[in-house]
Amino acid sequence: MPRVFSGIQPTGELSIGNYFGAMQNYVKLGEQYGREAIYCIVDLHAFTNPAAYDKDLLTQRTFDAALTNMAVGLDPEKVIFFVQSHVREHTELSWIFTTQTPLGDLERMTQFKDKAGVLESIPAGLLMYPVLMAADILLYKADTIPVGEDQTQHIELTREIARRFNHTYGDTFPEPKAVYARDALRVPGVDGAGKMSKSKGNTIAILEPLDSIWAKLRPAPTDPARVRRTDPGNPDKCLIGDYHKLFSDLDTLDMIRTGCTTAGIGCVDCKKALMPGIERTLVPFQDRAAELRAHPDTVRDALAHGAQQARAIAQPIMQEVREKTGLFF
Ligand code: SF4
Repeated sequence: MPRVFSGIQPTGELSIGNYFGAMQNYVKLGEQYGREAIYCIVDLHAFTNPAAYDKDLLTQRTFDAALTNMAVGLDPEKVIFFVQSHVREHTELSWIFTTQTPLGDLERMTQFKDKAGVLESIPAGLLMYPVLMAADILLYKADTIPVGEDQTQHIELTREIARRFNHTYGDTFPEPKAVYARDALRVPGVDGAGKMSKSKGNTIAILEPLDSIWAKLRPAPTDPARVRRTDPGNPDKCLIGDYHKLFSDLDTLDMIRTGCTTAGIGCVDCKKALMPGIERTLVPFQDRAAELRAHPDTVRDALAHGAQQARAIAQPIMQEVREKTGLFF
């Protein structure tokens, strides 16, 4: 059976963009692959962002990322779910790969160039980010990596790192492949200016109260063709139409399509019609999150158990690497 690996960033409040773009798929893959689905909250990766230098904030974000993933259905009884820094072999393997990866391969990474371009002082860890990512994946000999398209270059580098190691030390690692969820969705931000993203401040959080969500939706832009209430519009050219596709049932979708294209409904009514679907989807997650927050040891115990299971896979593989590279004596 293929082995799935994915790293989850502990970057503050997770949004509906994270849910529909990745987390929903993690749950689905977890149902399909069980213990062969390995999910790790990558707190060591977070260090490449100066925001992670605040120790309490990093701890809180790591906990919140775990809690939110569990709240939306990731079941630590079914999959392996843990925190990266709890399995020390990640950094050990990362160092071995760092020594063997040409600097030029890292400097040409598009994400590095984008992120480094806006920094005055570039942490070396930012350059090494994809090497640590390769170590995360190869430490479990994972071969199936669910990612967004922005990670394609990093997965290609992981394949090169595996190939280089295999060529030098003999066949050890699989060359993992990226899989793009067919139903992973690119969710627009509430400002209508492109993808929902924390850095743009245009998110709806999974755990956000409904009145706060409504306060963001009410002034949100709609199809610019609807200048007046009597102008017809097109839900396919409107972010509220996009949100309906994520949250609403078929009857509501039919109603807003007809109402919008014939100017039968106004945009405020259309936005109000979105709220029941949002409530139906998010409130069960929020209830579950509140339960977990009231019993934080449930989350901590699950992560500790997950780290144990992860180590049971990682340690023999790391031992094999030590023996092959001459580090074992
Ligand atoms: Fe958008 Fe709805 Fe207004 Fe149509 S009626 S433009 S889908 S908000």
